[in-house]
Amino acid sequence: MGPGSLADLREGLEAGDLSAEFLALRSLDRMARLEPRLNATASLDRARTLAAARDADARLARGERSPVLGIPVVLKDNLNWKGAPVGNGSRIQRGYRAPYDATVVRRLLEAGAVPVAKANMDEFAMGSSGEHSASGPARNPWDLSRVPGGSSSGSVVAVAAGYAPLALGTDTGGSVRLPGSFCNVTALRPTYGALSRYGVTAMASSLDIVGPVAASARDLAAALSVMAGSDPLDATSVDLPGRERLAELRPRALKGLRIGLPRECFGEGIEEGVRGVLEAALRALEAEGAELVEVSLPHTRFAIDTYYLITTSEVSSNLARFDGVRFGARTPSETLDTMVAATRDEGFGMEAKRRILLGAFCLSRGYYEAFYLKAQKARTLILRDFTEAFGQVDVLATPVCPGTAFPLGDRTGDPLSMYLSDVFTVTPSLAALPALSMPAGFASGLPVGLQLIGPSLSDVSLLELAHAYQQITKHHTEAPRLDC
Ligand code: GLN
Repeated sequence: MGPGSLADLREGLEAGDLSAEFLALRSLDRMARLEPRLNATASLDRARTLAAARDADARLARGERSPVLGIPVVLKDNLNWKGAPVGNGSRIQRGYRAPYDATVVRRLLEAGAVPVAKANMDEFAMGSSGEHSASGPARNPWDLSRVPGGSSSGSVVAVAAGYAPLALGTDTGGSVRLPGSFCNVTALRPTYGALSRYGVTAMASSLDIVGPVAASARDLAAALSVMAGSDPLDATSVDLPGRERLAELRPRALKGLRIGLPRECFGEGIEEGVRGVLEAALRALEAEGAELVEVSLPHTRFAIDTYYLITTSEVSSNLARFDGVRFGARTPSETLDTMVAATRDEGFGMEAKRRILLGAFCLSRGYYEAFYLKAQKARTLILRDFTEAFGQVDVLATPVCPGTAFPLGDRTGDPLSMYLSDVFTVTPSLAALPALSMPAGFASGLPVGLQLIGPSLSDVSLLELAHAYQQITKHHTEAPRLDC
């Protein structure tokens, strides 16, 4: 099985040509053979997976139907699946199991999806490469010497390597889009609030969102149709307009569509191979009648600083709850204070510690105005850039990343160069906008993604646009050759 199409598997299941149990066994078998090389999973429970698959088969036999009934799915290890470990890529979570289901997980389970594994990830979703994980890095299935991208490394590798046609990740500043681009899968960061975050470990609460990953926009739409909808358990959640169009996604009309190209995103610093791929992708859209319009997002140059000031601040406060008292690992010590200090010292990895320290500094008296408050003001300016741009165009197109997947170990010693991988993905995050990464072609054998950004709550139209592109191109159907 290549990346596999959710739509095809669904057809096979409904026609009775496939069974959920067969698909689950095939996933488990593929993981057993490929995991020694890819390291994309964090945990799995074979018996539980097979029981869920048999249950789905019984429901199919009764004539029940849903877009994900019997479909294998992989869950990022920061999502609660009741009873299963929630590792968050961290030593500090050792031994912790979810006491309840995240809302997105519950909705998938109710619709009959079959979880086959929890996925490896950067510690507490902080990272761009997948290397900041307590269980070691996942590897890029297109080139095992390279990173898959992060922080939803395992979720994306799982889809690219054919473990499952659908995976859930989370996206704070690009964590499904960046690995999506590096591994040739389609990944959506929905509008902030369009998916419930109940039961999802918080990284930076003003930006976190669950992001589905699949081979195509059509498959993403099917998953979203099951999970979307506001949730009384998450006060930031909202209903998604046009949700009824998701189940049978239609391609968006390209004729006359105004696609904005922010000049700040196509300047210097983009690898030549990436530029060539993106130009070809844009020409393909133009050939179908789309109009390419140059626009400007002048505050883009502040985006990385703004994003890292705000997220480290929020991280330092969110991660304060990991104190050895309630969630997971504890390092015994004589007093409460020394126990907390020892637990955090042993439990957190380098990147988590770096961000906690930076965030505590940004929020401290005397620095709050200069850093945190200033960053909030810059965030407003970035948001206004988008509002202005959407006065001129329907949608924006940018690179996902200036380059392709980089070699393992290349950036771990240089946090700034790691942070700069996110230069194009953090802007829509700061503006709370929906953004999608889709396969656009290959540069020197490595996948390149194109990012599409839409106005707030235009997620469905964004998927329809990606679907239109995927009707006229075949890049998203290319799968890595993993002989096994
Ligand atoms: N790479 C970004 C970071 O390290 C994005 C993380 C994410 O989206 N969860 O913060």
